Amino acid sequence: MSHIAIIGAGRVGSTVAYTLIIKNIAERISLVDVNQDRCEGEVLDLKDVLAFSTTKEVAVATYAEARTADIIVICAGFAQQPGQTRPELLAKNKTIIADIMRNLNPINSNAIVIMVTNPVDVLTYVAHENTALPQKQVIGSGTLLDMQRLQHALAREFAVDPSLVETLIMGEHGDSQCVIWSQTRIEGKPADQLLARERHVGLAETTRKTAYTIIEKKCATYYGVASCVAELCSIILNDKKSVVPVVTYLPAFGLCMSIPVVLGRAGVLEQRLPPLAAEEHTCLAQSAKNLRKLLHS
Ligand code: NAD
Repeated sequence: MSHIAIIGAGRVGSTVAYTLIIKNIAERISLVDVNQDRCEGEVLDLKDVLAFSTTKEVAVATYAEARTADIIVICAGFAQQPGQTRPELLAKNKTIIADIMRNLNPINSNAIVIMVTNPVDVLTYVAHENTALPQKQVIGSGTLLDMQRLQHALAREFAVDPSLVETLIMGEHGDSQCVIWSQTRIEGKPADQLLARERHVGLAETTRKTAYTIIEKKCATYYGVASCVAELCSIILNDKKSVVPVVTYLPAFGLCMSIPVVLGRAGVLEQRLPPLAAEEHTCLAQSAKNLRKLLHS
């Protein structure tokens, strides 16, 4: 029976569970949270979705149960508060993630861990440091979310179906993310030929700020990221070997950030760094520098 465990049944974790169920992605979903009441409430609510899904079971679980899952999604911890710095947020969530990874040991040796908690790039690295799993089996939900935001913005701009827009965002899931314009095409035509330079900057800025805008209006984001996590779970469980940007360990940089990878049931099968323009190389190096600074803050 395909089994996905979700650690952290808050807004993001419970929406991930709902999306997995409604999209028939796994037969069994387990939820773990330090807040037992919240977790039980979410599970009772989610059980009412099972009638409309092929998912057979959703339950509150212990770490002993969660560590046997095929995929373990980590959404536990705090979101950034107004006025809180990223090093402050990292300090709080780092302890939580290190504890969770230790609680998951001994982990199913075939499990794939998907980090969602922010700052996701650095916390994917923390997860690596606290597990026996190989690096290819620990990934993070990174710039896939940003990439689909830009893809849809470009589709609106050119009044075409989003499937006709190819784009890519790499690096940090956050302020220093890099739009790879050299890999961006609308109906097969290079974006460089279709869009003025100022429009590149404007679209990249709007994409980067989307999460801030949502948080300003409703205090949190969860639908978009839950859909991305559900997509990653579907790719993994069905061994689709799709090319998607995820947070992965990059030996050349000595840290984790998003680049396109071939993803399948065994995790990251191959890292696919595309050819980059000089300014895109510079952007990626700057993103890595920012993440390194945060990692050692
Ligand atoms: P939330 O406060 O609604 O939920 C967090 C949950 O974690 C709570 O239920 C809490 O009880 C639980 N928790 C805390 N410590 C725990 C522990 N040690 N073990 C188990 N559970 C624990 O927060 P949220 O809105 O769901 O956000 C969760 C995280 O996801 C935040 O860090 C947020 O920034 C991040 N996030 C990431 C992305 C992304 O794209 N990667 C997008 C949105 C949110």
